[in-house]
Amino acid sequence: MAKYKLEYIWLDGYTPVAGLRGKTQIKEFASFPTLDQLPLWGFDGSSTQQAEGKSSDCVLKPVAVYPDSTRKNGAIVMCEVMMPDGTTPHPTNARATILDDPGAWFGFEQEYFLYQDGRPLGFPADGFPKIGQGPYYCGVGYKFMGDIARQIVEEHLDLCLDAGINHEGINAEVAKGQWEFQIFGKGSKKAADEMWVARYLLNRVCEKYGIDVEYHCKPLGDSDWNGSGMHANFSTEILREKGGKAYFEALMAAFADNVEEHIAVYGPDNHMRLTGLHETQAIDKFSYGVADRGASVRIPHSFVKDDKYQGYLEDRRPNSQGDPYQIASRILKTISLVPAP
Ligand code: ADP
Ligand code: MN
Ligand code: MN
Ligand code: MN
Repeated sequence: MAKYKLEYIWLDGYTPVAGLRGKTQIKEFASFPTLDQLPLWGFDGSSTQQAEGKSSDCVLKPVAVYPDSTRKNGAIVMCEVMMPDGTTPHPTNARATILDDPGAWFGFEQEYFLYQDGRPLGFPADGFPKIGQGPYYCGVGYKFMGDIARQIVEEHLDLCLDAGINHEGINAEVAKGQWEFQIFGKGSKKAADEMWVARYLLNRVCEKYGIDVEYHCKPLGDSDWNGSGMHANFSTEILREKGGKAYFEALMAAFADNVEEHIAVYGPDNHMRLTGLHETQAIDKFSYGVADRGASVRIPHSFVKDDKYQGYLEDRRPNSQGDPYQIASRILKTISLVPAP
């Protein structure tokens, strides 16, 4: 038997963006624990905006477990927040609203800024870098990338791979101090779970560098500097294996009918980012187009090949602060409104 350090993590009740919380419990296991070996646990919901002080207990229900290579016998336990009965999902538990669909696949592209002293890493104390946007995207060299960012990004990548997260890649983004990673998962909740765990690991890696992750979609406001998105690539078994133009058009009509419902869960302040400029569609419009990065939904070339309308689609509207649980939930809900071909 060995004593395992189980870091139970969950989303708090802060709005408009939930924060990540975590606490450790030690338990003995013969080998790395499986999900069904992990007990429910409680926490003080009055400290996380999830309960009143006079009845403060909330319950953590483990939903996924990942090795944590930074700790000896470490595990990260992703949890849903439940009511004190342990079976009713808490109102802040968006994961519980995701339709179960093992055939649903999601790929999220998380963009973010590294921030130090209240500004993007590498920005001067006043004003903007001498070199404007251009060389930073997928760039290399100290004068563009600095010396700390890549250490963080690489360390984060290794932690995700050690955890078994289906991390698909990284790239430096358009603004100085801005980066991206991608996570893909099969099943309606898997990529969203892994995105939250990856965010947790990134926030934690940054602590020791005295750096924060800025997830806001437009941290530099109305300037020439890019904002951050979290494109949501999605497909279902029907989209991948049947598809067809008529089904695709019906699906897009359902998306067009639910613009407000989608934008409501695509991250706060998205009007600052979805302006119709900088490869975005305006927040109140809905459009789609082949290879069109100025559309709400981009259709990959592969999708329309031989007029099949089969494969995956990219919803470009979700922003970097969006909750992947709420995003996946809304996309599957809209898809469910359209009769299968
Ligand atoms: P780009 O920056 O050009 O939009 P990326 O490579 O950053 O492209 O992201 C594309 C995403 O699409 C990846 O996360 C990938 O996992 C995802 N993806 C690919 N195929 C599918 C599919 N069939 N269903 C859902 N997502 C997919
Ligand atoms: Mn990308
Ligand atoms: Mn990008
Ligand atoms: Mn993309």
